[in-house]
Amino acid sequence: MTTTALHDIAVRQIKGVSAPKQQELHAFGIVSVADLLEYFPFRYEDYRLRSLAEVKDGEKATVQGKIMSAPSLQRYGRGKSRLSCRAAVEHLLVTAVWFNRPFLQEQLMPGREITLTGKWDQHRRQLTVSDSEFPDKGTAKTGTLQPVYSVGGAITQAWMRKTIKQALDQYGAMIPEVLPHALTEKHKLIPGREAVMRMHLPDDVKAGQEARRRMAYEELFLFQLKLQAFRALTRDKMDGVAHTADNESIRSFVAGLPFELTGDQKKVINEIMYDMRQPSCMNRLLQGDVGAGKTVVAAVALYAAVKSGHQGALMVPTEILAEQHARTLERLLEPHGVQIGLLTGSLTDRKRRDVIAGLQMGLIDIVVGTHALIQEDVFFRSLGLVVTDEQHRFGVNQRSILRRKGMNPDVLTMTATPIPRTLAITAFGDMDVSTIRERPQGRKPIKTYWVKHDAMDRVLGFIRREVGEGRQAYVITPLIEESDKLDVQNAIDLHVQMQQAFPDLRVALLHGRLSASEKEAAMRSFAAGETHVLVATTVIEVGVDVPNATLMVIMDAERFGLSQLHQLRGRVGRAGYQSYCVLVADPKSETGQERMAVMTETDDGFEVARRDLELRGPGDFFGTKQSGLPDFKVADMAADFALLETARDDAAELVTRPDFWQLPEYAGLRLRLEREGIFQGDLLD
Ligand code: ADP
Ligand code: MG
Repeated sequence: MTTTALHDIAVRQIKGVSAPKQQELHAFGIVSVADLLEYFPFRYEDYRLRSLAEVKDGEKATVQGKIMSAPSLQRYGRGKSRLSCRAAVEHLLVTAVWFNRPFLQEQLMPGREITLTGKWDQHRRQLTVSDSEFPDKGTAKTGTLQPVYSVGGAITQAWMRKTIKQALDQYGAMIPEVLPHALTEKHKLIPGREAVMRMHLPDDVKAGQEARRRMAYEELFLFQLKLQAFRALTRDKMDGVAHTADNESIRSFVAGLPFELTGDQKKVINEIMYDMRQPSCMNRLLQGDVGAGKTVVAAVALYAAVKSGHQGALMVPTEILAEQHARTLERLLEPHGVQIGLLTGSLTDRKRRDVIAGLQMGLIDIVVGTHALIQEDVFFRSLGLVVTDEQHRFGVNQRSILRRKGMNPDVLTMTATPIPRTLAITAFGDMDVSTIRERPQGRKPIKTYWVKHDAMDRVLGFIRREVGEGRQAYVITPLIEESDKLDVQNAIDLHVQMQQAFPDLRVALLHGRLSASEKEAAMRSFAAGETHVLVATTVIEVGVDVPNATLMVIMDAERFGLSQLHQLRGRVGRAGYQSYCVLVADPKSETGQERMAVMTETDDGFEVARRDLELRGPGDFFGTKQSGLPDFKVADMAADFALLETARDDAAELVTRPDFWQLPEYAGLRLRLEREGIFQGDLLD
């Protein structure tokens, strides 16, 4: 449904909605008639008649029977009671039991027909009845699918059903058709009005499914239309930075890299360079599994920005990562005369002032930093490109603040949390997506094992073996909250334990409560190969790159989510050495076991993400609401992949047609875009 008259009619106008009830409805976010009509059931109760022979033990079903015995009533006091009688259902004699409904006793006359809805206990041949109706009095529910709404407080299920039905009777005829005729026809969608009615009161499952499909499409289409219209409008603006770096210097920079780029890396660099040269604003998502080699792609893009006379910023979620990236960029870019700066929260005031001044005067070409980059007093001489790494860690707002520090700089967003393509389209419908699938040459799949805690001796033996081969190992302990003393103590204990197990090796400790310089020292010595074993919390989860490390041991692995486990595992297997991941866990829950199983079955991040999505559902997948992921009423991003892509293509096609902006047929959609603030810009931030 769209913005129409129904949004302007208060629910109070519906027959049966009193002033107090109206207040109650407000608590559910229901203010207008449109709100109520869009308050769809989250499931249906099935009152369709079934044959008892098909009903499984423990299942709930509705069956038709005849009362065969006088009822018997037992009372337990405190208003509790048990009413039962015998009934013939098909060829079986069953016991029907009602709890706490003594008033039904006089209606249970032997010989009377009855429909019983309840849970079937096959062994005792007993039906625990939740609902019953008598055909001689008319059956309102029997044979139907009854909507089940989310209710509470003074709003009961029965009242909600009645009121929504009343609203449909009173206002159903006013529900408008939002979708253009061409689209409903193309996708064989039922009309909007009918869909809303059937969502609440479907005649059968098929009717319900058709309604659901129609409403899901509508929702996805309108969402995509918003994104696509915004894109179409901004694309034409041409007020971004047109980078002018010449091909020759980029090519010679790439030729000077310590390795040959993979085909996918070259492909995405081309895509990025093409965008950067346009006068419009680049907004591109670069996704690639852990270890795929995204950093060097960012380095090329940043170099191109500098070669074009602008500055670049690389924003990352942790200080450890900022330092590492700054070192990497220094190594790659300083030989080409590029100045790199580092800006994190733990700089001294003096150093911080220097960096800020350097940025303002243009003495620093590229700055790498944490959220310290988005503070108010940070200015650039000419910011041309913003890269964010592991973007899922940043809120949408943080990214846009950084972007505003330039005159519409190009934006490249990198993520190693591989988002299935269609999800990316939804969440980032305003972005172009580049994907690296290919891993650098010579990489071997990481071997993953899952062991119980009692196999710790073997794990220690494994660590010793890898170190003996000249490699290094991580041992990770869960840290749920950076401030949690207990978890920090776990890391400290584990460190002691490892030192005792390996008195001859150098074992370092890294956790969030260390000072910035302690953290940096621990990380630097591990990166330099001076320490053999690094005991750490998840502070090293994202981005950390020490190619010589080949063993990742994760303690209490069941306490991590799947994508987190995959990220951690991605810290090894970053060079040609065979690498291993050992999960130490005794998970009790089924999903915990499932996660361990997924990890041992695949090391493909896309597959892990897909399984994660299955296990958790899309809402949780992105973590917080901050992700900017829309909250759909009907559409389900996991289930409606195909529909989503269709809706996106339809919306993109529509907004590029000049007549979309003129024809009266589309006036409703245009009005909707206007009300959503599309024409004021910056909607997506
Ligand atoms: P991620 O995509 O996880 O950010 P990185 O950019 O950190 O991955 O790269 C992982 C490792 O692979 C780094 O040590 C990097 O130097 C190396 N690497 C990147 N590209 C290539 C390549 N084409 N050939 C060989 N090694 C590469
Ligand atoms: Mg990275």
